[in-house]
Amino acid sequence: MERFNAVTIHGMGTPMMECSTGLVKRLAERAPVSTGDFLRAIWTRRWMPGNLQVLARADGISRPARELALALRLATGIAHTRQLTLAALAGFTSEAELIDERQRWCWACLHGMLAIGRIWEPLVWRIRDYETCHIHRTPLQSQCPACLRRRILPLGSYSRVGCCSACGEWLGAEVYKPAHITQAEDIGRSEQICRLITVMPQLSVARPTARAIVGSCIRPDIILERDAATLLDVGYRTVRNWKAGTNIPKLKHYLDLASVISVTLDNLLLNRTDIVKAPQVSVRVERKRTSIDPELVEQAWRTAIGTLDDISIPQVANAANVSITYVREHLPHLLDEAKEARRQAERARRSKKAAIQSSQISACFRNLVQAGIYPSYDKIQEFAGTVVRAKGASAVIADEWSRLEAMPNPPFRRLVFPQNR
Ligand SMILES: [Zn+2]
Ligand SMILES: [Zn+2]
Repeated sequence: MERFNAVTIHGMGTPMMECSTGLVKRLAERAPVSTGDFLRAIWTRRWMPGNLQVLARADGISRPARELALALRLATGIAHTRQLTLAALAGFTSEAELIDERQRWCWACLHGMLAIGRIWEPLVWRIRDYETCHIHRTPLQSQCPACLRRRILPLGSYSRVGCCSACGEWLGAEVYKPAHITQAEDIGRSEQICRLITVMPQLSVARPTARAIVGSCIRPDIILERDAATLLDVGYRTVRNWKAGTNIPKLKHYLDLASVISVTLDNLLLNRTDIVKAPQVSVRVERKRTSIDPELVEQAWRTAIGTLDDISIPQVANAANVSITYVREHLPHLLDEAKEARRQAERARRSKKAAIQSSQISACFRNLVQAGIYPSYDKIQEFAGTVVRAKGASAVIADEWSRLEAMPNPPFRRLVFPQNR
């Protein structure tokens, strides 16, 4: 393995730092062996994932990531392979919502890397909330331009760096329509995540817990729990659970929290929130609340109820652009209106459905009669009930049957009928 001694990590200390699965592909290419063979060669521990799907999370924080980092350290002699994963975030958030298990890339970045002759896969591309390249301001891609697959695993037996793991095609080709219009907000989020990548070494040393971070910023002089819950779009109980340490926030919640209390994500996670000027934040929240005109809210709320197909309080609030907390405090009768409208819509939907079903059953019954298939009332009922499984089926059929019996010349005289129906 001495041929790996001179390995350098690309983008070390920058937001574009390489990830460990990318390094695996690069080293396999250099060996040169297939990625699958390389993995089997360096895996020294007894536990080796039999399925490469497990390695989709090898840049994350759980066991595959730890094992791969160790294997890479032994193979290359690089001491800090753990830093090529998201291990430093272990205490803050869970892996499930953090990592994107698909291969994602910015074609423009790959294009630029090819031009300078060094190709690598940045760790930041693996973070789910990093949706837009902060350099090129284009959305990350996840669909291979050659084979059109959408769910490509980042690490497959024949993966090569910068190429599709499924078909092996180069992913930096300029085939996409340029200049998707990207929201400034998305770029802001991407930039925040970049800052997070650069402070990961400090994070892995400092290791504050989610509970400590949430506790230090959601407190009465900065932001009330109730306001935080509204602004982060989570339940009040969720915030309490974060503070109690029984639950941990997702990365997107930290991003939102950082923007709400006006600090950067890295400062938030490093617990450097002393720079927050408390009054400034509470004024901000205050202004947001007092600038709402109750009459306009009421109007918007009723319009929303009138236009929505599926009425639920969160959806009405969303369409009327008002928080539920505000409505609950200032205009509680609107909540009742929404509930009543929902009940009415539900009733109307049910009666409409019932009408459609009974007309279907009648049609079915008449078809049976016309076709001359009417061996017995029970048979017809059973047959029509099977065709149209509905609650009121037997009542509709009984109606039709009595209509038929009342006819002066009923068609079923020709047939034998059980009299005791
Ligand atoms: Zn880019
Ligand atoms: Zn492909």
